[in-house]
Amino acid sequence: MPIALQIARVDALQILDSRGRPTLQVALTLDDGFVAAAAAPSGASTGENEAVEVRDGGPAFGGAGVAGVVRTVAGRIGPALTGRTWGTIGDVDDLLRELDGTENFSGIGSNASVAVSIAAARAFAHAAGAEVWRWVAEALGTTPRLPVPNFNVLNGGAHAPNRLAFQEFMVAPIGARTFADAVRAGAEVYAALRGRLRAQGKLAGVGDEGGFAPDIEAPQEALDLLVGAIEDAGYTPSRTGVAIAMDPAANGFGTRTGTYVFSGCEHDRDEMLDLYAELVRDYPVWSLEDPFHEGDHDSWRAITAHLGDGVQIVGDDLYVTSAERIDRGAAQRETNAVLIKPNQTGTVSGTFDALRAAGRHAMGAMVSHRSGETLDTFIADLVVGAGTGQIKSGAPSRGERVAKYNRLLEIEAAEPALPYGLTPRA
Ligand code: PEP
Ligand code: MG
Repeated sequence: MPIALQIARVDALQILDSRGRPTLQVALTLDDGFVAAAAAPSGASTGENEAVEVRDGGPAFGGAGVAGVVRTVAGRIGPALTGRTWGTIGDVDDLLRELDGTENFSGIGSNASVAVSIAAARAFAHAAGAEVWRWVAEALGTTPRLPVPNFNVLNGGAHAPNRLAFQEFMVAPIGARTFADAVRAGAEVYAALRGRLRAQGKLAGVGDEGGFAPDIEAPQEALDLLVGAIEDAGYTPSRTGVAIAMDPAANGFGTRTGTYVFSGCEHDRDEMLDLYAELVRDYPVWSLEDPFHEGDHDSWRAITAHLGDGVQIVGDDLYVTSAERIDRGAAQRETNAVLIKPNQTGTVSGTFDALRAAGRHAMGAMVSHRSGETLDTFIADLVVGAGTGQIKSGAPSRGERVAKYNRLLEIEAAEPALPYGLTPRA
């Protein structure tokens, strides 16, 4: 049945994200009184070609305020959304692109577009009488499944004030039977890691995504800690048991010409390739994201050729959730997987296009939070509906991180027949 969505009222509010920086919350009140709300996340280690957030500048909040974006939603987007009938999310997103008038949402702000678009997605699901994840599956023609959570338990790079250059070290309970069992494994490994760090006198708070931020430096030290914690918790560190995912986020310490500087040393492309090959040989690393700078294309092709058969190579800053860039990367065999962050592209329909592109090329697709988050749980429904079988939402700790995992627990409890786990690799 075609949907005829009518929006009676649009409200916008400046709220705080998990880093204490302002962000935007949008609420769409429908004709039947239902309120569909959403909030924009925000990254710290961003790709050069991401959709652009608009912020106020000036003295308030160090320039990071979004009062101007609140005015844009109230004064420009709201009047254009109300008093009409909407049939698809694509129509709403087209309006946002039209009002924006730029290539990258630098006009109205990707923080405005993504919050309005996600709220509209919730409104469409409500109008269809469906859970958001079911509405996503309908829209994409996909088979829903519960994802493997990749818990970011050690933070470095732009997310922590330590010497660890690589940004994320994640624990992925691939061999769990259910999502609830995976959450249990993640929480137990996190607790065991805390115990290990305390015993070694290295416990020193957490980073932006809730993972511990000990002042360690070498990636091997981080990986040894993880393997030890997995064993302490009674699990088997392996690619089919409790595995490890890494996001070095190499834009943070590399250049497009293939020079990488960390731990006081400069590493060229071949040295980096050797290092990654060694880490993948010595540790149960199943997924490696942004191992090179987004502009260092030769290195991407080389690592996918060398390690891509056994390991997932994920493009985050490389693709910025753009279907066009994913198509290009697939043609060049730069990765075998993509990261999906709705605010990198600025709309839900842009996110759907990126997911379709990944599907066309039989690439893995990990749905992701941002390092600056809110309690919004849209990405949990997105990953279930898209059926890609993998998500990262930070540590199994801190409200804005566990909000997504807890939503997935709710979905599993309501739909125990949904399969759990990675999709078979093509
Ligand atoms: C990432 O790089 O994958 C990430 C989640 O961090 P940020 O949101 O800072 O880009
Ligand atoms: Mg990343």
